[in-house]
Amino acid sequence: MKNHYDVVIAGGAIIGSSIAHHLGADPGFQGSVLVVEKDPTYASSSTTKSASSIRQQFSTEINIKISQFGIDLLQRAEEILSVSGESTGIHFTERGYLLLANDQTLPTLRERVAFQQSHGVAVDLLDMDALLARFPWLNPEGLAGAATTRHGEGWFDAHILLSAFRRKAISNGVTYVSGEVTQVEQAADGRVTGIRLADGTRIGCGTLVNATGAYAGLFSEKVGLRIPVDPHKRTVFVVNCPTELVNGTTVIDADGLTFRPEGRGYIIHLGPEPDNDPVTFDLDIDHSDFDVRIWPRLAHRVPAFEALRVVSAWAGHYDFNPFDHNALLGVMPQVPNFIFANGFSGHGVMQAPAVGRGIAELIVHGRYQTLDLSPLSVARYFENRPLEELNVY
Ligand SMILES: Cc1cc2nc3c(=O)[nH]c(=O)nc-3n(C[C@H](O)[C@H](O)[C@H](O)COP(=O)(O)OP(=O)(O)OC[C@H]3O[C@@H](n4cnc5c(N)ncnc54)[C@H](O)[C@@H]3O)c2cc1C
Repeated sequence: MKNHYDVVIAGGAIIGSSIAHHLGADPGFQGSVLVVEKDPTYASSSTTKSASSIRQQFSTEINIKISQFGIDLLQRAEEILSVSGESTGIHFTERGYLLLANDQTLPTLRERVAFQQSHGVAVDLLDMDALLARFPWLNPEGLAGAATTRHGEGWFDAHILLSAFRRKAISNGVTYVSGEVTQVEQAADGRVTGIRLADGTRIGCGTLVNATGAYAGLFSEKVGLRIPVDPHKRTVFVVNCPTELVNGTTVIDADGLTFRPEGRGYIIHLGPEPDNDPVTFDLDIDHSDFDVRIWPRLAHRVPAFEALRVVSAWAGHYDFNPFDHNALLGVMPQVPNFIFANGFSGHGVMQAPAVGRGIAELIVHGRYQTLDLSPLSVARYFENRPLEELNVY
């Protein structure tokens, strides 16, 4: 390891490694890059705990375009990310999302489907007959219709994508080091000049990127620009069900209950009630939550789930942005060489390809080139201009 790098990235999971890969792959960039990761096993990073799904059914143009970029990368992963001809192991299961609506939410769903179609999303509105013909295992009670895509949505393994970004970045000269960034040094004009690790090592840098996930709010305090990004616990339950659900897809019920096939079983997720969703780094699993809150809704919507068995569960942190639930990207003039790539609020895995590319362009060329990510500028928080995204779960 050297004592100075042109770019230092704090946090080397899917966002940090995507940025590192896109920097390493940019022919216009000749600089040095160091990724500092405090837990190289990534055992408790949000990336590893993610449900690893990608969708285009958003209500804002920018979030749709970001997903379209990500889908293109997933479909061409071998071409883009393989090293020395070795397979990346990325397998994109393209089986769509099914968003269910009730009488109250159907008019809004109809409007959003039209909006998404106008942005090239292969999404269709299903009436009740079409819905039940395709997904006969659904209980129609309380439903009025649904939306689903023909292609361009699905799931993959986020840890494998993170590893592929990392491997490719290293093959292009990026250095990874195990360590925790504990201090950020700034010059009198605010610019970052270097970092210090927990073991006391000092490393100078030209640009510092905050890719610390759920720690990003705390990390931003180190340069005096506190952003609203906090850890909120989200739990995923893995179940077996004796009946196979034909045309299995990621289903999001009108109340936010989400489930999809995973291997021979299903994974289930339901966000907490707003008054029971504290800021916490705790990862303990509340098993009673499944019995009390989740199972009754699940068995109601899919009667075959009455016979399910919970096999396991895991909890991770949403890198939650309570301001407007959207990513906070880019720089603030007070610290022009400190780059934010934070606040993905449950969308960071699907947004990693486009955000990695965009942040690399910002560093190398001083502006976004492939996709204009400026609607997600971190400045909107400091200027109190929330960006409303309605399809957040
Ligand atoms: C249960 C669950 C389900 C989810 N499902 C989806 C989904 O289906 N689709 C989707 O797109 N997103 C999903 N997400 C969200 C997604 O996982 C996150 O948005 C994404 O992983 C954020 O990536 P990241 O690299 O910014 O953060 P992380 O993966 O958390 O990585 C941050 C890294 O920074 C390191 N770090 C922190 N502080 C320091 C420091 N001071 N020095 C050095 N290293 C540091 C950490 O060790 C960590 O490895 C889900 C999240 C959870 C919890």
